[in-house]
Amino acid sequence: MNTTHAEDMPQYRMDDATQDPVAIGKIICLARTYKKHAKEMKSEVPKDPLLFLKPASAVIFDGEAIIIPQKSKCLHHEVELGVVIGKKCKNISKEEVLDYVMGYLLALDITARDIQAEAKKNGWPWGIAKGFDTFAPISDVLLKNKTIDPNNLELSLSVNGTLRQQANTSQMIFSVEEIIAFISSIMTLEAGDLIMTGTPEGVGELATGDKVEAKLGGLTALHVFVK
Ligand code: MG
Repeated sequence: MNTTHAEDMPQYRMDDATQDPVAIGKIICLARTYKKHAKEMKSEVPKDPLLFLKPASAVIFDGEAIIIPQKSKCLHHEVELGVVIGKKCKNISKEEVLDYVMGYLLALDITARDIQAEAKKNGWPWGIAKGFDTFAPISDVLLKNKTIDPNNLELSLSVNGTLRQQANTSQMIFSVEEIIAFISSIMTLEAGDLIMTGTPEGVGELATGDKVEAKLGGLTALHVFVK
C-alpha cells in the first residue's frame, strides 16, 4: 500500500537557503479582484472577495512546464501576487494580518478557460478548470520584510517576449490585509497555505512552445514554458 508522508508533500523554494523547508498547504484563490479584469471577463465586481481552491499538487517551479491537458483547447495565463501564511490563524483583524504572513511570491493561476466558461454557463464549480497538474507555477518565496509593501508591487507577464499583463497591486479592489482577514473569517489558515490574490487585465491564451516570463517588481521573476 502506498501512503503519503508529510515529507513527500511539495515544499516551497525559499530565496533564503537557511530557512527550514515549508510544505505547501491549501491554495486559496481570489476571483475578480481587479476592476479591469472583471470587465474583460464581462463579470460584476463582487462586494466581498470571491474564493476558490486549487490543489497543492498543481504547483510547478521556475524552469518547469505547464502541460496542456487533453480536455482543454484554451489555456489562459493569469499573473498574481501570492501571499504565504507563516502561522496558524483564524478570525484575525486587518491590523494583525501581516504578523501571520511568511512572505510573498509570484504565482500563475493557469486556467482552462473553455472548461471554466462551460462551468460558469451551467453554474458549476471551477475545480476542473483550475485544478489540473501544472496549473500553479510559483516562484521562490520572498521572505517578508519591512521594505516589501504587498499593496504596492508591480506585476507583469510576457509571452515569448511580448508584454501581456502589467499592473500594480495597488489597483486591487481589496487590500492584502482585507483579503486575508476575510479568508480567516471563513477557514483556519495554517503555515504554508498560499493565497493567490487574483489577476489584473490582459489574460490571454497559451500555446505549445510558448515561453512565459513573469516579474514581481524588481524582486523576483518566474520562467516557465508550455508543453
Ligand atoms: Mg486567478
